[in-house]
Formats: sequence, structure tokens, C-alpha cells
Amino acid sequence: MQAWTKPEIPVVPGPARRLRLYDTASRGLVEVPPATDGSARMYVCGITPYDATHMGHAATYVTFDLINRMWRDAGYEVHYTQNITDIDDPLLERAAATGVDWTDLAHSEIQLFRDDMTALRVIPPQNYVGVVESIGLVTDAIADLQRAGAVYDVDGDLYFAVKADPTFGSVSGYDVETMRALFAERGGDPDREGKRDPLDSLLWRHERPGEPAWDSPFGRGRPGWHVECSAIALEHLGMSFDVQGGGSDLIFPHHEMSASGAQVATGEHPFARAYVHQAMVGLDGEKMSKSKGNLVLVSKERQAGTDPMAIRLALLAHHYRTDWFWAPTDLLDAQARLDVWRGAITRGSGPDAAHTIDAIRAALTNDLDTIAALSAVDTWSDSNGNDPESPALLAQALDALLGIKL
Ligand code: ZN
Repeated sequence: MQAWTKPEIPVVPGPARRLRLYDTASRGLVEVPPATDGSARMYVCGITPYDATHMGHAATYVTFDLINRMWRDAGYEVHYTQNITDIDDPLLERAAATGVDWTDLAHSEIQLFRDDMTALRVIPPQNYVGVVESIGLVTDAIADLQRAGAVYDVDGDLYFAVKADPTFGSVSGYDVETMRALFAERGGDPDREGKRDPLDSLLWRHERPGEPAWDSPFGRGRPGWHVECSAIALEHLGMSFDVQGGGSDLIFPHHEMSASGAQVATGEHPFARAYVHQAMVGLDGEKMSKSKGNLVLVSKERQAGTDPMAIRLALLAHHYRTDWFWAPTDLLDAQARLDVWRGAITRGSGPDAAHTIDAIRAALTNDLDTIAALSAVDTWSDSNGNDPESPALLAQALDALLGIKL
């Protein structure tokens, strides 16, 4: 599938730094990638296109965009893959509820997402991959799991036996009770009769009347959610890629299951070297989610005339691992900061930029400490100096490293 327009990324002078990120699985900071040169590989779970991008999604894709930017700054060749869950229950349910054809709904929401990402200056993935265009990949992965003895049938639906992976549970580190509760809450079916383990997850759902279905060696049907990401990541990145990313609500079951599926299908470990998660962005004391209907949408803000760079800056003002609640003051503060920065770079001269640029790099490579990075720019803006090159240099660095074009 076509991604979106790539922003220009200036090259910034000065020494780059190595990136360290918090890995959910090992519960500590890890250096990614481990090699000092070469390539870096990242898979970020994409949208289910049944509704528009809200600030929680935007925070996720901006966070992983910073990782992309740090790697590029350090000279790595970045391989970035993102999927689109363009066939799944929520999409079909929304299409049925609104009387819109499910493919039309998916196409229009994917286009809106592309427009949001372009406006926020998010670097597109090289591989932007829909599930519908990857059915063959998914059925191949299910066949590999069958050969590994990890698949069984419940009334024509195929399930992945999580016990086939001796390391199952190592991504989230959750106990069985927590896993079971989250599985029920997030699209799983722990209580379905005929399953061997309540946590076993659906791989292939046989055709139901009125639902779209595709031919496969297991009969007509459609794929389950988790195995799609195992299959797409294996095809485009291979095993042991550097970062598997998404919102923290994907830790379990989604990232646990897609890692296990890929590990059992290939007999290799691990699926990813680091599992990195964006915290939740709430509104009015609750998690922002489609099901609750309490969404602040990027596209609505853009239509209302909000500068997309102010949206991006509002997101960067919060650390990615801390849950927070969106408030109107977030945008006002970001717009005010943007105005100050814009004023500062139009000065004829400024204080030495090299020190500030190094401070931005140091902050971002330290587990994406955006708060410290923004503070370094504030300090530069508030200071005077007589370096005539400094304002242009700093503007370049903000564009390349933070994705903020002044
Ligand atoms: Zn995924």
C-alpha cells in the first residue's frame, strides 16, 4: 500500500549519539541497535481504519518517528514497516452500523491517516502493508505454525496454542490472571468452549454469512489479528529486528501473541530485540478511545486551523512513557512556545548552537527525553549571542531531530 509524503530531513552537523530505549520485556534500558553501524529495523503496529487519528495515535507515531530520526542522525539505514489492520471485527462492525461499505470506510480512513501523518511531518515507513494485500503471507505463517504442531481447530476456526512457545509471557511479564483479564478486554475470547487454553488466540476465522472471506488451504475465511503482524514483520524485516512498537495497550495480548507466533513459526528467538510502548493519552480522567467516544482528533484540529507543528510540539511536551490527559492548554502552551522559537530563529544572530544541538541529541537518545530536549531549545531561545549562523543551524536541527519545522 502507498504510504505518505516523506518530509525533507536536513543533515545536522556535530556528533550523533547512540540510542537507548526502555524495553518492556527486559524492563530496562537497552541500546538499539546493538551494532555501531549498518541498519536498524523497526515494526510499528498500524491503525485499524474505522475512525480518524486521535491524539493517542498521533503520540504513538510521533514517538516512533523520533526513534527513526535518531537512527538516521546516527547514520543507520532504517528499515521501517507498519501494517494496516484493514480487515477486523471493529471495521466490519462500524461499517455495518453506519451503512458504509467496509472497503470504502477503510480507504477513506487510511487516506485521512496519511494526511494527518504528512501534516505532523512523520517519516513514512518504507513498507506500509495492509492485511488484505497480505492474506497469502498470513496463511503461510499459519501453515508454518501447523507444521510446528501449534494449531488446532474449534468448530472450523483455527487457534494458536500458546503453550507451543516456552517463552510465552516474556514480552509483557504479566501473570496468567492479568493476561486473562486483558485478553477478554482487548478482543480475545478466553471463555470460548473447545479451546485448550483460555489464552489461545484466533489465527483463522472460517467464513460467516455476510462477512468478507478469502480462499486458503484451511478453507475460506479471514485472519485473526495477531498473526497478521507476525507474518508482515517476518516478510519485511525478518526475526530479531530492533524495535517492535505500539501503544501500551498492545503489550498484551497483541505484542505477546505476535512475538510468540513468529517465534514458534520460525523456531527462532526473539521476535524483536526491544519492545517499546507509548503510554496512553486520556481525556477528562479517562483513556481516550474509540469505544468511549472521547476523542480529540488530529484532522478536526487541523480543519479548525491549528498549526500541525503546535500539535506535534504539544505531544513532545510529555514523555512517551508517562500516561497523561489531553487538555486545551496543551495546544495553547505549544503554540506559545512555537511563537517564541520562531521569533528566536528570525533574529540576526544567537548563542552558540552546537551546545544546544548536542543537548537535544543527548536528551532524545536517553530514552526519548523530549522534555529535556524542548527545555534545551527554550534556553537557547531565551539567551542572546552574536553567532550569525546559529539561528539557521538550530532551525535545521529542530526540523531533523524533533520533526518541528519552524
Ligand atoms: Zn501489530
